[in-house]
Amino acid sequence: MHQKPDADAMGSSLGLFHFLQQLGHSATVISPTNWADWLKWMKGCEKVIDYELSPERGNSILDDADWVFCLDFNTLSRTRKMAGRLNDFRGTKILIDHHQQPQSESFAYGISDTSKSSTSEMVYDFIVAAGHDDKIDKDIAECLYAGVMADTGSFRFSSATAAVHRMVADLKDRGFDHSKIHENLFDNFLENRLRFTGYVLQSRMDIYYEYNAALISVPWKDLVKYQIKTGDTEGLVNYPLTIQGIKLAALIIDRDEEIKCSFRSKGNFDVNVFARTYFDGGGHSNAAGGRSTDSLEQTVQRFIRAMKENASQLQ
Ligand code: 5GP
Ligand code: MN
Repeated sequence: MHQKPDADAMGSSLGLFHFLQQLGHSATVISPTNWADWLKWMKGCEKVIDYELSPERGNSILDDADWVFCLDFNTLSRTRKMAGRLNDFRGTKILIDHHQQPQSESFAYGISDTSKSSTSEMVYDFIVAAGHDDKIDKDIAECLYAGVMADTGSFRFSSATAAVHRMVADLKDRGFDHSKIHENLFDNFLENRLRFTGYVLQSRMDIYYEYNAALISVPWKDLVKYQIKTGDTEGLVNYPLTIQGIKLAALIIDRDEEIKCSFRSKGNFDVNVFARTYFDGGGHSNAAGGRSTDSLEQTVQRFIRAMKENASQLQ
């Protein structure tokens, strides 16, 4: 899965993990980095290896492996420090992903299907197409449901097709409590995270009505003051889109080791192209991310220039 995994990356990986184990394979899930506490309820999450924390362990598993499934990313750079090792991997690499512009030469087999709501949906399709529908138990269903729910914005994006709803009905038949999963993902934070959100919306958000755009920029000192951890800023970028007329929302965070950027849009403003052009990133047309090695202030200035260059599309 990609670094700093979200619910889809973790859910699809663990769903596939449980399935492969049922088939009698020896399988291990590796994350390139740590992950948010609110993913820890997923069955099997406690066994996932944090590559950044245990590189030797990760490397020896890769050395022994015949197959590597790469889930929810399509360019090796999204796995950070694992990228070199994955590039050199001697076995077979299989891609299952739904982002644009895959680095196809890096994988022996695979699909990167942007019409799919989530990698979790693709893992479901994979299991069903392999004729193992009967192996989808409650644990697999919970992991895949969490992934698809998160990546469709709780089934509100256009990617939540009729097929997605049919899949959810089928998963639901395996017997899990969907309200509980929603609670685990969205009502499972600490007070500091809500205080931080309030502070940032009050003090760190700029609205550019002329461009129908908004920017939240967060200095490192805010993260320290509010004791912000991995996953605590997830969803923050969506708030500006709740303002009438705003078509582009950006979040730029100084995470100390790098400047992380997130972009969300409504309608046909393509943030995948925007992130690729200006921020060394990518993603989907309405949700993308990137990074910068400049200072926070310089990155903010770059965003403002980029926004102005795209004025005709935004206005
Ligand atoms: P987020 O803003 O939540 O980190 O990411 C939004 C979407 O863009 C996710 O689908 C994520 O996988 C993708 N994304 C985030 N950062 C990058 C990046 O640096 N490169 C690429 N190719 N995709 C990214
Ligand atoms: Mn995804």
